[in-house]
Amino acid sequence: MPLQQLKQRLLERKMQLERQVAAIENDFRQGRSSDLAEQAQERENDDVLNALEQNAELELSHINRALQRMELGNYATCSVCQDIIALERLTAIPYTSLCIQCANRKE
Ligand SMILES: [Zn+2]
Repeated sequence: MPLQQLKQRLLERKMQLERQVAAIENDFRQGRSSDLAEQAQERENDDVLNALEQNAELELSHINRALQRMELGNYATCSVCQDIIALERLTAIPYTSLCIQCANRKE
């Protein structure tokens, strides 16, 4: 199994997400306009940024857990039924902890 390759992808994605979160944080720290119409626009942007940041944080936590499971040696083991997670599934979603059956059952 090309575990190193998957790990590399997870690490790259992790860096990408961390940069994204940092950029969003930076945007929040910037000063606000004194113009009312612009303030309304800024609040709308903030909502979008908040949603983006939440998604990024969520994906980051999945990725960190996947990396942890790699260290423990149970990365490809389903966390629910202990079955092996198919490689094609891991290739599609490298941070998943569920086999396809358990993922489908959850939905
Ligand atoms: Zn399973």
